[in-house]
Amino acid sequence: MAKPAEGPRRSPPSVPRSPNLPQTELPVVSHLMSRFNVAFSLMSIIPLLTCFYLITVRFFSISILEGINGIYFLLALVIALLGLFAGQQLIRDIIRQLVEANTKLARLNEQQAAFVSNVSHEFRSPLAIFKGSLDNLADGLHGPLTPDQQEPLQMCQKEVNRLARLVGDLLDLSRIEAGKLPMQRQDVVLQETLSAVGKLFGGLLRERGLSLAMELPEEPARLVGDRDRLQQVFVNLFANGVKFTERGGLRVRLLKDSGAFQVEVEDTGPGIPQEDLERVFDKFERVGTGGEEGSGLGLPIARDIVELHRGRIWAESRLGQGSRFIVRLPAAGTG
Ligand code: ADP
Repeated sequence: MAKPAEGPRRSPPSVPRSPNLPQTELPVVSHLMSRFNVAFSLMSIIPLLTCFYLITVRFFSISILEGINGIYFLLALVIALLGLFAGQQLIRDIIRQLVEANTKLARLNEQQAAFVSNVSHEFRSPLAIFKGSLDNLADGLHGPLTPDQQEPLQMCQKEVNRLARLVGDLLDLSRIEAGKLPMQRQDVVLQETLSAVGKLFGGLLRERGLSLAMELPEEPARLVGDRDRLQQVFVNLFANGVKFTERGGLRVRLLKDSGAFQVEVEDTGPGIPQEDLERVFDKFERVGTGGEEGSGLGLPIARDIVELHRGRIWAESRLGQGSRFIVRLPAAGTG
């Protein structure tokens, strides 16, 4: 049985409690040091065995250690040992410095994520008020609008909606990264989810003169997961398909094989260069020049949600012919 709510989550980076090396990091250092000590001891065995071998097969007489030669030999031995000791200390320091730098970066990352999360949260209420007031104005609740007033009002509505989407995406992402995105465990039938998303985009597709072909099997594709979050994944994929496609349309296929469902959302847009197929799933990454403005957060969020369902998402594309986004999700009763 798939367990999306307990799926792999990115845990927040650990925050040190003191500027010194934190307790939580010490095992890392001691592990690295013990591995280093083993390698170091093995390295020391080689010259020792060589000396032993030379003495036992009498390549040189023990008298070589007498008088001035003996002093040179001892001096060389002491210098070699000091060198080894200094090397060991140096590597130990480097390991400590790397761990400290890593800890500072983790702390910075955590502070940044908390900042983004707080700011997004603070933005939500005023944005909702702006949006409500603008909608009331547009609906004529405060009296009729002249044509001159309608245009700037529509512009404001469009921008407020865009900002609200961006803030929502930032909040989702910061929750996912903190492992705090609430995930439901519901029975999901993928045909229902995909049909609902298809309906949502019906008007926009018609407006843009784009087609939508859905190939959904009769047998219900059931899995356990968060219905709204899965819908969000397909909304993001449909939205990109519509946004980047000027002619043709979208084709959506649902397949089942070896305990998993595969949803393919394909468009006839400009395509994505091979070298960018992985990069498009990174935060704030936007490639190429086509399409309207966007935040570059839709695909990273989609990937995180799919992974929280123990699934996988990737893209295939041929430049100039279109893109295909593929989502694989474990079927109910598997995994
Ligand atoms: P956004 O669409 O808001 O910019 P996304 O994370 O959804 O952010 O997508 C990241 C980038 O991937 C897009 O800016 C675009 O460059 C590329 N991309 C995504 N989907 C498509 C598509 N269907 N066709 C072409 N390029 C795409």
